Amino acid sequence: MPSARDEERFPELGLAHDIARRFLDELPTRQVGARATVEELRQSLSTPLSEEGQPVGEVLEQLSEAVRDGLIASAGPRYFGFVIGGGLPAARGADWLTSVWDQNAAVYATSPAASVVEEVVGRWLVDLFGLPPETSVGLVTGGQMANFTALLVARHAVLKRSGWDVEAKGMAGAPLLRVVASEEAHATVLSALAYLGIGHESVERVRTDDQGRMRADDLERVLGAGGETTIVCSQAGNVNTGSFDPIAALAELTRRHGAWLHVDGAFGLWAAASPAKRQLTAGIEQADSWAVDAHKWLNVPYDSGIVLTAHPEAHRATLAISAAYFVESQSERDPHNWVPESSRRARGFSIYAALRSLGRRGVAELVERCCALAARMAERLRGSPRLEILNEMVLNQVLVGVRPPQGGDEETFVRDLASQVQREGTCWLAPTHWQGRPALRISVSNWSTTEADIDVSAEAIRRAAGG
Ligand SMILES: *Cc1c(COP(=O)(O)O)cnc(C)c1O
Repeated sequence: MPSARDEERFPELGLAHDIARRFLDELPTRQVGARATVEELRQSLSTPLSEEGQPVGEVLEQLSEAVRDGLIASAGPRYFGFVIGGGLPAARGADWLTSVWDQNAAVYATSPAASVVEEVVGRWLVDLFGLPPETSVGLVTGGQMANFTALLVARHAVLKRSGWDVEAKGMAGAPLLRVVASEEAHATVLSALAYLGIGHESVERVRTDDQGRMRADDLERVLGAGGETTIVCSQAGNVNTGSFDPIAALAELTRRHGAWLHVDGAFGLWAAASPAKRQLTAGIEQADSWAVDAHKWLNVPYDSGIVLTAHPEAHRATLAISAAYFVESQSERDPHNWVPESSRRARGFSIYAALRSLGRRGVAELVERCCALAARMAERLRGSPRLEILNEMVLNQVLVGVRPPQGGDEETFVRDLASQVQREGTCWLAPTHWQGRPALRISVSNWSTTEADIDVSAEAIRRAAGG
């Protein structure tokens, strides 16, 4: 059934607009979780691939109909699972335009505008986070790739100090590269290291305290043996507790031992942009590299991660590719020199729009508002005899332990509680484990969440917990 829209010029734009409006109108009030089962989704999406293709209107209407019940309202105000974040209106608009403009942000020549926007965004971010002015920046898909890219540069720089050119010679026969991370390092740091040829078992683990912060005294013990070819992976913002490693103390140690300090600040680095929370990140400007996501707390639509390093020359030497058809520009910035990808989406536009719409004060307020709402959630849940708050409320993460009824088991209670909350639909949260104990994790990272959203969600969680 061809739609009337097919008659228009650019029918896809009007249709996408109508479909998007319907989605956004429902977003704040609909059930947060998905409504369809995997079987139902396979059924509605698995049509035979047609010979002749279909009109645009039909394709878009049928796609939106078929996926509807399998979409999660994670862009909405009461999704508290993982650390997700939604889409700020300005960023969402710019993201649409990015698709329409369809720029290839590989080199200056393929999109001068994308290249310069990335330059400007990079300077704004370095300034917001309070990093050294010479900090180099690359835009990648997410925290995983930001960690990977930063660690690639770290590997290059650390091995170079021992006279080893890893890009030319590879890892076989290289000087021993030590990598240190805490017990609480994010899983993506370990996968990034594995991509670099550094297997999980060879990563030296440092002990953490009861909030998941790396213990500086234990790092000192580990580094004791010498640190020149050592990379230390620290964390700003633990996914369970929101806690920060003591970066200033770690930086002092890594400097003394000549080691490279990397900070995984996928969401936590944004705290540096808030005067009220900045002290949590004290010392970050002394690190060698940082990973952060714009698609989490900055509320830019997926995908959007950022890698930053204090060593532009090492950064460029690690990633610059040359090919006969790439004429290197002298005065212009070629984005591909700072990331592992060549052709890619011009991610800078949405970050640019988000930062312009919020301003410095708006970014700080977004961070502070989410933290205040998380504290409010913790306060509401503390009233329940079945729930307890396990973390110090330093940021936007609430870690909830359970007290099951007599004879009940914590693991089962947590699992049932999470699935009951998810099914009921007011909000969405996920189970986790904290230092061996089953728990629920709540992350407040959406720009549109209000106090009323917190209150109805806390009530729904307490109802499911039975008090
Ligand atoms: C989310 C997260 C990552 C991974 O980021 P992606 O954007 O999912 O690739 C890494 N580290 C921390 C601390 C995170 O919260």
